[in-house]
Amino acid sequence: MPSPTRDAMDWDDFEHSWLAPFAMRGRDSRGRRYPEPPHPFRTVFQRDRERVVHSTAFRRLMGKTQVLVGQINDHHRTRLTHTLEVAQISRTIARRLRLNEDLTEAIALSHDLGHPPFGHSGEAALAECLDGHGGFDHNLYGLRRVDVLEERYPEFPGLNVSWELRETFVQHSKCKNLPECKEFLAVGSPLLEAQLVDACDSLAYDTHDTDDALGIGLITLDELGGVELWRRAAAPVRDQHPELRDDLFRSAVIRELIAWQVLDLIDETTRRISSLGIQTLADVRACPAPIVGFSPDLLALKSDLERFLHERVYRHYRVLRMAAKGQKVLKRLFSELVARPELLPERYLTRWSGAPADQLRRARSTVVPREGCLERVVADYLAGMTDRFARQEYLRLFHPDGDL
Ligand code: MG
Repeated sequence: MPSPTRDAMDWDDFEHSWLAPFAMRGRDSRGRRYPEPPHPFRTVFQRDRERVVHSTAFRRLMGKTQVLVGQINDHHRTRLTHTLEVAQISRTIARRLRLNEDLTEAIALSHDLGHPPFGHSGEAALAECLDGHGGFDHNLYGLRRVDVLEERYPEFPGLNVSWELRETFVQHSKCKNLPECKEFLAVGSPLLEAQLVDACDSLAYDTHDTDDALGIGLITLDELGGVELWRRAAAPVRDQHPELRDDLFRSAVIRELIAWQVLDLIDETTRRISSLGIQTLADVRACPAPIVGFSPDLLALKSDLERFLHERVYRHYRVLRMAAKGQKVLKRLFSELVARPELLPERYLTRWSGAPADQLRRARSTVVPREGCLERVVADYLAGMTDRFARQEYLRLFHPDGDL
């Protein structure tokens, strides 16, 4: 590897001078599970971000459902494009608030890494399968991906990302009472960079789910006219361009909706930072109330839109049919592989400590720790799949003409 020149800018110093006092600095990180020497010119969070982008789980986001399963058209959102939208919006706001952009981007790019195939219905199916075996939560699975399941480095399992990035998976989880969560929760409230990505996640999906649902024809512009948030965003567009074609009108209102939410989020967060007296990182950790957030007015309008989407999109019969099919695929694969673990690919079988000795001897990985619970190993395998791979695996195992 060519050695970098020593006159490269010391980004840690730049960060220190540029960031707000309540932002997270790379030099204050608690570090990695397996200590590594610092990089000559990249901060700890820049390296985290790049490790996420090069991971297998990140590339598989392309084949994972956001809301709409399967190839309804070639341009509705997938988990990958959703993730990129969240990253882009979060970075813009992080820069404005002088939060750590690299950490924000790393959190945004990894926030959905743990989602199983078939969207939330896939997660519900795996949670049912693992009832009594520790349960399933996509955030904690995301942590397992970056800590254990990604195999890229000979020196350590996983991606060996920073403590602060690992913390975000736990802070966001709904299973916080598990022993592995303790060390991350003791630190107090989430970093502002993590709170920001959380808000931008909701900003992005409320907007793009509306856009996709219109594009696919699950809802109409007329119906959206009954939703106050949409009506208010649409009014200035109609005033300025009364004769606009429907598709251009839709895009213009979507842009208006994003801009409105971004500005509101910046204003309300700035107001809270000042009214709560947030001056340091320690103040952030000690503040029990969320610091990054939308104004109460906008939040009420967003909830109203979410109710509409819930009724008209997420519970649309075409969406429900595809979700039900995805759940069947995962549940049937789960019970077959738990009953007959010898059908698991060798790489997964050898992770299970009850695997036959000759399988363990042939284990390719020397760094991935063994796992005592077969159900967990099977769920690790299933949760990592794309929608397409899960359907193919189903055909391979159950259809007489499926490839082997
Ligand atoms: Mg998301």
